[in-house]
Amino acid sequence: MADILLIEDDVTIRTALSRGLGELGHAVSSSPTAFEGLRLAVDDRPDLIVLDLGLSDLDGVELLRMLRAVSRVPVIVATARDGDSEMVPVLDAGADDYVVKPFSAAQLDARIRAVLRRAGEPAPEQLQVGGLRIDPRARSATLDGAALDLTPREFDVLHYLAARPGEVVTKRELLTEVWRLPYGGADKTVDVHLSWLRRKLGETASQPRYLHTVRGVGVKLVGPA
Ligand code: CA
Repeated sequence: MADILLIEDDVTIRTALSRGLGELGHAVSSSPTAFEGLRLAVDDRPDLIVLDLGLSDLDGVELLRMLRAVSRVPVIVATARDGDSEMVPVLDAGADDYVVKPFSAAQLDARIRAVLRRAGEPAPEQLQVGGLRIDPRARSATLDGAALDLTPREFDVLHYLAARPGEVVTKRELLTEVWRLPYGGADKTVDVHLSWLRRKLGETASQPRYLHTVRGVGVKLVGPA
């Protein structure tokens, strides 16, 4: 049972999901517009937001970015857009999970419970690999004492790798565990983020210090020798 905010402009879907989630024990408030939804998200502090991407007053991804600037509330995106590649920018913007229309209230409820379970897990302790220090609670990282300016996704990738120092992690595993795209997504997405991360760590693929490519397999994070 959770306080759910549903932002959805389609009155039929909004009504059906509000009723369905209510019957499953959730307290549901809803908004047909992005701006009203943003106000409710800030004022009422729901436990989780279900956000339709196709809103009439503002693109759902834009709303998600605005929301993420002020809140870490778990967000499940509801979309008619299929295809994992289209979901990458949405997940990069900070969505915790997504459902593709049409879906039932029971399916959504299962996702809600999984996302809330993850969100409720205690944040792990600080990690240190060489001069790299990662603080999962603050979602911040430093290298040799200097703060790294990371995007949320870059932080997630670095955190995932730093929790497994010396272990080779495949791009598929990163897509599944960090991007939450178990069935698709392009390796290129991972490559691009790894190259940005390398630049911020002040290294290159050919002269790595921390991020080592294991050709044909994946990548691993190790402290410099
Ligand atoms: Ca819509």
